[in-house]
Amino acid sequence: MAIHVPMSSPDITAAEIAAVNEVLRTPVLSIGPRLNAFEQAAAAVAGVTHGIGVNSGTSGLHLCMIAAEVGAGDMVMTTPFSFIASANCILYEQGVPVFVDVDPATGNLDPNLAAAAATDLAQGGTAADHWLPPSLRGIRRPEGRLRALLPVHAFGQPADMDPLIEVARSQDLTVIEDACEAIGAAYKGRPAGSLGDAAVFAFYPNKQVTTGEGGMIVTSRESWAGLFRSLRNQGRDVFDGWLNHTRLGYNYRLDELSAALGLAQLNRLDELLEKRARVAAWYEERLAGAEFVETPRSAASTTRMSWFVYVVRVLPPARRDLVVRLLAERGVPSRPYFTPIHLQPFYRQRFGYRDGDFPVTEHLGAVSLALPFSGVMTEEQVDTVCSALHEAVKHSVMASPASD
Ligand SMILES: *Cc1c(COP(=O)(O)O)cnc(C)c1O
Repeated sequence: MAIHVPMSSPDITAAEIAAVNEVLRTPVLSIGPRLNAFEQAAAAVAGVTHGIGVNSGTSGLHLCMIAAEVGAGDMVMTTPFSFIASANCILYEQGVPVFVDVDPATGNLDPNLAAAAATDLAQGGTAADHWLPPSLRGIRRPEGRLRALLPVHAFGQPADMDPLIEVARSQDLTVIEDACEAIGAAYKGRPAGSLGDAAVFAFYPNKQVTTGEGGMIVTSRESWAGLFRSLRNQGRDVFDGWLNHTRLGYNYRLDELSAALGLAQLNRLDELLEKRARVAAWYEERLAGAEFVETPRSAASTTRMSWFVYVVRVLPPARRDLVVRLLAERGVPSRPYFTPIHLQPFYRQRFGYRDGDFPVTEHLGAVSLALPFSGVMTEEQVDTVCSALHEAVKHSVMASPASD
């Protein structure tokens, strides 16, 4: 029973180690041939024409907000059931996140609510208030307009993009896909990353593909590709001489070591995703039918799942937070997932959000539990986690509420 199970682990082979070592024998450690090759490989995965490597997924999302011309007081519609970076990127450009609640089955942006919100925001005035952050209603309404839609493919499952794209078309909105958790996923046969005007993948060590730190913007918009290359490199345009800067830019470059690692990982993408799917299937076998535990479901529109995390729902009378503690006592790590963005202290304070504002997101936030997950997990480790989970759930049901 003393099997150590980490929350996540990268899947690194001799090929990755050799690729990184090789870079160290060259003089080019940034903006070189590995970055080019990695960008082309990532664009191919997304089925688009351009990849632009950046130093994190968050940096990529920030640059997409600039490309979408989000400025002070402009609004961007997005989901509160996500990692905080998908909303923070809007704030970096003084934009206003307009949260819309999610589909209870998938945890992804609800297209019907998105349509209603877009119509009301276009009308403006009091019709808009219902969708605006509480502190920006009435006389404090944002000055700008709704510019963009930023759906997130939560946990590696694509959002229901067709109706969302329809909303964007009818209201002239830019669509940025946060595909940071969904590299390799497909929606009705179309790859995640090809569904909007631009998309972002992320390569933190717990993601399906890692570069240590890193991210990738993918797009088929030629002019945007040039803009992203300039913005990530201190605002230098391709035709600018050394130390000439056309616009305000950033140092969001991805180094050659990371790019070499990423390319070696992308060469193994199918294998990486298959291994993760196999681990998910082991979990499903052991947890299907377990009392008070619901296993993840994929929507009919998801033609390929890219398993990022394995998140179950712990339902009453079982108690999720107690289950986390009981699992920890058995040496099994687990995480509540996601803490809704609108309830993060900074968002409550700045925008006046309160409990109850987004009930579906809050329900999911209260019952969701991420279990240890990676492509290198063994069946024995999955056994360990599942036995511990069965026990913990049973105990949490029997324990008195006072022990919570
Ligand atoms: C991982 C992730 C990001 C950002 O990734 P970093 O590379 O850590 O900046 C953004 N959005 C979502 C939904 C993510 O899961």
